[in-house]
Amino acid sequence: MVLKLFNTMTRKKEVFKPIEKGKVRFYSCGQTVYSDMHIGNARAYASWDVLKRYLLYKGYDVFHVQNFTDVGHLVGDVDKGAEDKILKSAREKKMQPMALVEKYIADYFRDNDDLNIMRADIYSRATGHILEMQEMIKVLLEKKHAYIVDGNVYYDITSFPKYNDLFGMNLLKSGGKARVKKDPNKRHPKDFALWIKATKGHIMRWPSPWSVGYPGWHIECSAMSIKYLGEHFDIHCGGKDHIYVHHPNEIAQSEGYTGKKWVNYWLHNEFLLINGEKMSKSKGNYYTTRQAINEWGGEVVKMFLISSHYRTASNYTNENLETAKKNLEKFYTTLNLIKNSEGGKKTNLEKEIRIVKKKFEEAMDDDLNTPLALKEIYEFMKKVNKNLDNKKEILNKASDTILLLGRTLGLKLEEKKEKIELEPLIKIIIDLRNEYRKNKNYKKSDEIRDKLLKTGIELKDEGEKTVFAIKKF
Ligand SMILES: [Zn+2]
Repeated sequence: MVLKLFNTMTRKKEVFKPIEKGKVRFYSCGQTVYSDMHIGNARAYASWDVLKRYLLYKGYDVFHVQNFTDVGHLVGDVDKGAEDKILKSAREKKMQPMALVEKYIADYFRDNDDLNIMRADIYSRATGHILEMQEMIKVLLEKKHAYIVDGNVYYDITSFPKYNDLFGMNLLKSGGKARVKKDPNKRHPKDFALWIKATKGHIMRWPSPWSVGYPGWHIECSAMSIKYLGEHFDIHCGGKDHIYVHHPNEIAQSEGYTGKKWVNYWLHNEFLLINGEKMSKSKGNYYTTRQAINEWGGEVVKMFLISSHYRTASNYTNENLETAKKNLEKFYTTLNLIKNSEGGKKTNLEKEIRIVKKKFEEAMDDDLNTPLALKEIYEFMKKVNKNLDNKKEILNKASDTILLLGRTLGLKLEEKKEKIELEPLIKIIIDLRNEYRKNKNYKKSDEIRDKLLKTGIELKDEGEKTVFAIKKF
């Protein structure tokens, strides 16, 4: 079976062939670390987590790079007179910009860990790669893909004829979705800033041959992905909103710089809706990932995120989260039933294990069809629940299969350790020992005391009463 991925560039499902046999190098556009991550962002990261885990399942050696934007992402994406998102947020929160960045990076990892999203091999920060970006801009200027106006450097979109046809969007004629205000510095309204001259009071600034300033947003992804993944790599992922501006600009920069094809497969995830509507702070239907995790728990949220196909809109509603919770419970129910079953003589599940694996792979090979893959696992678990009289070794194999497939989709499926309250348990032992003492069986009562002491529980007889202390080692 071969993996097929929907390539937004060709608008077709294509057989995935890596550039280097057995290896996959991929880049995903990451977080601008200026505020809490919203649940729509989490959807993107959960989608690429599925991609990564399935590539690993198929035996590929995967190398994944994702960025943190900590400079250059302007509010409204308008190149002139707009404020840097980091600076604006830092000013509002009365924080140092880099302290703000540290906070939101730490929050990012906390939320992603709770969602069991695998960490990338490299998280590259824009501010750590200013030299690489400047190097790229120099070459783009030399190759006449860019021009300088008053210390600002712009990409000349007409120098890259392929631009209009990218993603089949007719980007120059239709204007895409980005409404770009007229900027007298630009030759074409779609030209975009590679380097921006810092205005007075702009704290984040670096020297450059053109001005003391800071990089435009798009250049970081080109510079950092090429640095770590090479000039030609396999997959580039991002949210659907990047199809119109950010990704065409990344391609124009990268291919303008190298003069050759940059990325083979482009994957984009659909948006997440809140109660059927586009997420919007002003409408009050806005959820941060943290809010969702606090309300439902990380694993339920993850189950919700993977329950719809990454290219269809998913809808964050109480009902859908409840369904995710119930579906997640199905996993734990079956795993526990197997654990507690003594098994029997039947062997019919052996065949079902082979079938579910095959069906799971068929679903996932078809552009990562997670809802279908989950459906196949539920069907399998139903059969297991009704056939617990299979041989124990087959039941264990079924359990391993459920864990493998569930975890490939990014569920944690951790064995839940039951918490035992120690105090009532010790009191039962003390009562038992006191029975022996009453009957003057001191040999037995001392034996209990000594054995407990070895486990770190010390008993002291105070007249009729026995108290205990847990010794700390
Ligand atoms: Zn990017």
